[in-house]
Amino acid sequence: MFDPGLAGHLPLRERLRGRLEKGALPGSLLFAGPEGVGKRRVAMELAQRELCFRRSACGQCEGCRAFQSDPPPLELPNFLRVAPEGKAGLIRIGAIRDHDLVEGGVIAWAHRAPPPRCHRWIMVEDAHRLNGASANILLKTLEEPPPGTHFVLVTHRPEALLATIRSRCERISFAPLSAEEAWKVALAAGWEEADRERWTALSQGSLRLLDPADFHRAVGQVEAWLDLVSGQPLAVAGAPLLPDKAASQAQSEQLRQPLELLLLLLRESESLRVGGEVLLGPWRARLAELAPRLPRPRRPQAVVAAALRSLGRNPSAEGLLREVALSLGPER
Ligand SMILES: [Zn+2]
Repeated sequence: MFDPGLAGHLPLRERLRGRLEKGALPGSLLFAGPEGVGKRRVAMELAQRELCFRRSACGQCEGCRAFQSDPPPLELPNFLRVAPEGKAGLIRIGAIRDHDLVEGGVIAWAHRAPPPRCHRWIMVEDAHRLNGASANILLKTLEEPPPGTHFVLVTHRPEALLATIRSRCERISFAPLSAEEAWKVALAAGWEEADRERWTALSQGSLRLLDPADFHRAVGQVEAWLDLVSGQPLAVAGAPLLPDKAASQAQSEQLRQPLELLLLLLRESESLRVGGEVLLGPWRARLAELAPRLPRPRRPQAVVAAALRSLGRNPSAEGLLREVALSLGPER
């Protein structure tokens, strides 16, 4: 009935399946929730079930296998995946209107008759990356999708979508996975018990850090912030915070994770101060030792929030980190 390779969200997946069977699932959906909790996989499961030889998303048959490639398939008989591309990471108008992605464009694809006993599923990944022109072209179709066609817009930043797009979609909200659900996936991916505490603390109910390189980068970033608070200069401690110029992800987007980790550290230090619970258990001792050195967190929090908002304007990484690091120093 459900893809056994997919973790969590069972009540939500059950509801989606039930509404689809009753013909009560709207044609435009917005899957919103934290990064790496499986929104995309849940969207794909809806299409996968229809091509599954057992009609169950069994995960074993040829029909299911087509959905399990990495990266996921771009086009199947009932499924089209629209994703950001290039260093700027945008969904450009060529993909939506022209032939860049699929012959005739996405809108024309949506209007073709679905295969027998299937719907047409169009998954728009990282939908907050639709540029203005692409979003505007989609609006009319999202208002009234052709019968049998479902658009599923997937995003961890719903607030960054045009309000006109948001208002045309029913929002389906995803919660983080439980620590147990996330760790079960990590174990299957080869992680070992010795890493569990740190992995769970930093993953926060997501699968973002399933790749060891990503995990080690996050650990390096937490430790870099702690070093900065302890008084080390940015030039010495800041290297793990800087974007990797060779990576395919836009440099400013690479700053998002270290900034979010810093927000987490600030929340945690405040929580320690008032005797509350600490999520970052493995770093508790270090945090406790450093918490008195931190200025009241409201000041750095405001600076980090402003820095996060500025990422879309492609700021210089060094300048931005310098400003944030400065806000961690003693108040003047
Ligand atoms: Zn199957």
